Amino acid sequence: MKPAPQTPESASGHHHPAARDRAACRFCGATLTDTFVDLGLSPLCQNHIEPDQLNHMEPFYPLHAWVCRQCLLVQLEEYVAPGEIFSDYAYFSSYSDSWVEHARRYTEMAIERFGLGPDSRVVELASNDGYLLQHFVARGVPVLGIEPAGNVAQAAIDKGIPTEVRFFGTETADFVRGEHGPANLILGNNVLAHVPDLNDFVAGMKRLLAPGGVITMEFPHLARLIEENQFDTIYHEHFSYFSFRTVIDVFAAHGLTMFDVEELPTHGGSLRIFARHDDDEARAVSDNVAGLLTRERDEGLHEIDTYLRFGPKVEETKRRLLAFLIEARDAGKRVVGYGAPGKGNTLLNYCGIRQDFLDYTVDRSPHKYGRYTPGTRIPIHHPDRIAETRPDYVLILPWNLKDEITAKGAHIREWGGRFVVPIPTVEVLP
Ligand SMILES: [Zn+2]
Repeated sequence: MKPAPQTPESASGHHHPAARDRAACRFCGATLTDTFVDLGLSPLCQNHIEPDQLNHMEPFYPLHAWVCRQCLLVQLEEYVAPGEIFSDYAYFSSYSDSWVEHARRYTEMAIERFGLGPDSRVVELASNDGYLLQHFVARGVPVLGIEPAGNVAQAAIDKGIPTEVRFFGTETADFVRGEHGPANLILGNNVLAHVPDLNDFVAGMKRLLAPGGVITMEFPHLARLIEENQFDTIYHEHFSYFSFRTVIDVFAAHGLTMFDVEELPTHGGSLRIFARHDDDEARAVSDNVAGLLTRERDEGLHEIDTYLRFGPKVEETKRRLLAFLIEARDAGKRVVGYGAPGKGNTLLNYCGIRQDFLDYTVDRSPHKYGRYTPGTRIPIHHPDRIAETRPDYVLILPWNLKDEITAKGAHIREWGGRFVVPIPTVEVLP
């Protein structure tokens, strides 16, 4: 019998039914050929499971991050329509005290630095439940929120914060400019990463911005993600992961100049960028811009090899966390989770952590009580459950809030309980 002719694919052991078209970079359009990290399959992180859905299937999507060889934008392909992800969003920003306080300090800085007053207009993109704009309202600055999730937008409207229930892009920009006029300050916190059509979003900001106006955006800094191994901040809702250099290039492509940048501790290390129209020379470019670009270059962020080394580090982190959990369970320890954030979804699904390792998790958001974590089906309870069951270890899933959580949960030491963080590598806190 004659052996079947070997094709390159069968020779390599990989069976691709048909070579499908590779995706294109959402910024520059180059073909994506290089893996940043492949986290396997994961469900959408905000689809917490109701008890009556426990017998149902869940859709899982590939969670594969690519890095563009051309512009170094780290990105996911778009598998899910944003309407499906963001129309009934369970994240209410007001449930995090430290985040609300962060927002309050921001509004004071902005009013002072940009001279905002009763004749100004502040537009927030992805304004959530009004956690931030409420502080501008209290200071008499007119605001408009733009928020695609109807349920959280309604919470803002109920607080007296005018909100348009829409996705943002050039179409919404033209509508808002027509209805309300241009914006003196456009801000967006943790929205730039969530935008599938990045170019249309940034072009929309350019159109909505008044002459002399300012854009500020906050988003997790890719440099911190890489350095501190924050792979769990990769999830389907986050389409893009930016270095400062890449975000400068994206804004420049739409006639916007970065004139300042700040590094913030939020979400494990974020950037707050400040942009203006290219021709608005009244605002000089701060030395911070060149300073951060130099540091990024020194950290290797402007070379693709740095990105290609990330995946193996993530695999090692998974093994460390599982080794800790296996040892704890073998020793008869009880381990529970704290929080049910999006990053927890990536971590739990990628590491295969279910009720075999975590009895339950807790969350302060009442929208999550009585539900289960997506994919891993871990029950979510009220935080009081921890004092009732006195576990040995509490694994903090939103590790970016660990100071707030350990302060609030200091009483677990009364029975010898300890907090544990999974990232950058598993650690039992003192
Ligand atoms: Zn690109």
